[in-house]
Amino acid sequence: MDNVIPFDKRFDLPPGKVEEVRRGVRRILCNNPGPFTFKGTVSYIVGQGRVAIIDPGPLDEAHIAALLQAVRTETVTHIFVTHTHRDHSPAAARIKAATGAPTYGEGPHRPARPLNIGEGPRLESSGDLDFRPDTVLADGEVVAGGGWTLEAVATPGHTANHLAFALKGTDTLFSGDHVMAWSTPVVAPPDGAMSDYMASLEKLARRPEKTYLPGHGGTVEDAPRFVEHYIRHRRGRERSILHHLADGQSDIPSMVRAIYVGLDPRLTKAAGLSVLAHLEDLVARGLVQTDGTPSLEGIYRCRGGG
Ligand SMILES: [Zn+2]
Repeated sequence: MDNVIPFDKRFDLPPGKVEEVRRGVRRILCNNPGPFTFKGTVSYIVGQGRVAIIDPGPLDEAHIAALLQAVRTETVTHIFVTHTHRDHSPAAARIKAATGAPTYGEGPHRPARPLNIGEGPRLESSGDLDFRPDTVLADGEVVAGGGWTLEAVATPGHTANHLAFALKGTDTLFSGDHVMAWSTPVVAPPDGAMSDYMASLEKLARRPEKTYLPGHGGTVEDAPRFVEHYIRHRRGRERSILHHLADGQSDIPSMVRAIYVGLDPRLTKAAGLSVLAHLEDLVARGLVQTDGTPSLEGIYRCRGGG
């Protein structure tokens, strides 16, 4: 069982309370708990006096008020968005209207691959289609503010436009939904792509930052080792899918039942999409065959196997 991830679900910050989590970094929890958001979305305030906000969160009036209250004696100069899911980016427009600060992100929401015929967004309208960053950030771009410098680290996979942000001169990286201490994120086509996700994990595993501050839940300590656990977990999941295929389970619902024993029923759809993400990757790599484009309804078989 070496592919079990050492999750850390300790996180007791009450919604609306401002807490300094690192020197010069404050966090505020939004009260939007759920199966995908854990206790809720965590927004970060970077710096003192002239500050940046990372992930303003959903359109939640109490959270927007708490964020603005936290910076009421300061100047917000930048608003960064890790990705365009509706629990992360929609409040950016409101914080911008209240502070005048421009927004920064990788780009508008987009699927990781062209949509198949008849395929709509799968996870109940999780994408924020309205967000357009004022400044588009490419991988490696550096933005400096009042006493802080952030480097954009392109980490596609959970979404095509996902960015992490490294706080230069520290061992801290804001990891968004890419790596979190409490759970792995959903990688669900068409928003997400497993091949991109794995490549982004390998990329973070090679980086020097030891501490991640994620978009949900508490701090990830010993981050490069934790990322290795994530990578091993996904490879294990892939082996398990190949094993079930060889065993004659050829459709996604039976694989979900076999692999996700004891799953929270609210996550069944996400689990099916996660298996689809693996199958898309396995088909692209020539290890698995299906008729036509990989889909939730498809029948799959190991290539060369019976
Ligand atoms: Zn997300």
